[in-house]
Amino acid sequence: MLPVHTHYDHAMDSAVVADRTGADLVGGESTAYVGRGHGLPDHRIRVVTPGEPVSYGGFTLTLVESHHCPPDRFPGEITAPVVPPVKAGAYKCGEAWSILVEHVSGATALLQGSAGFVEGSLAGRRADVAYLGVGQLGVQSEDYLRTYWAETVEAVGARRVVLTHWDDFFRPLDRELRALPYAGDDLDVTMRVLDELAAGSGVSMHFPTVWRREDPWR
Ligand SMILES: [Zn+2]
Repeated sequence: MLPVHTHYDHAMDSAVVADRTGADLVGGESTAYVGRGHGLPDHRIRVVTPGEPVSYGGFTLTLVESHHCPPDRFPGEITAPVVPPVKAGAYKCGEAWSILVEHVSGATALLQGSAGFVEGSLAGRRADVAYLGVGQLGVQSEDYLRTYWAETVEAVGARRVVLTHWDDFFRPLDRELRALPYAGDDLDVTMRVLDELAAGSGVSMHFPTVWRREDPWR
């Protein structure tokens, strides 16, 4: 279980899911404090060194330090156990990761949870598929969108992009996904720029379908 950062919409249930599935909770110190506050035992919490690979079964995971997309509504690190019930703001951002995944089959992926970047941080890394978080991208400048694409999709040489974090996560998952209807984003703007970037570089791009298994490496 690897929250891409520790805002409530990514990390609030991470320890519960880890507990129910027998998984480890993996991340930085902020993630560890979420786990401890939710009663997950220490041996099930793994704090990584940024850039150093960790292995689980057939998967090798490398967490590279990234940035959250501005505006970060709850910035900073978590420095004490988060014991629920707490307000959403208790789940501060913590470390924002670009996660590189390699499977023994040779398949590789970049999981970019938040639409932020650290210039040059993914240089020299490779991933066939990019799961690209696009939340809040629609309110950034066009220049920001282009730089984000260059620092993520282009940097790792991905040939396929799956767009994530664009949907309204306050909606139950037994209903179809739809874009965030709030003023905090504009998916039409995001798609206009990303469609052009993808077409110009021969990258295929799609939205995932909820509950449907997919294989973007085929
Ligand atoms: Zn966030």
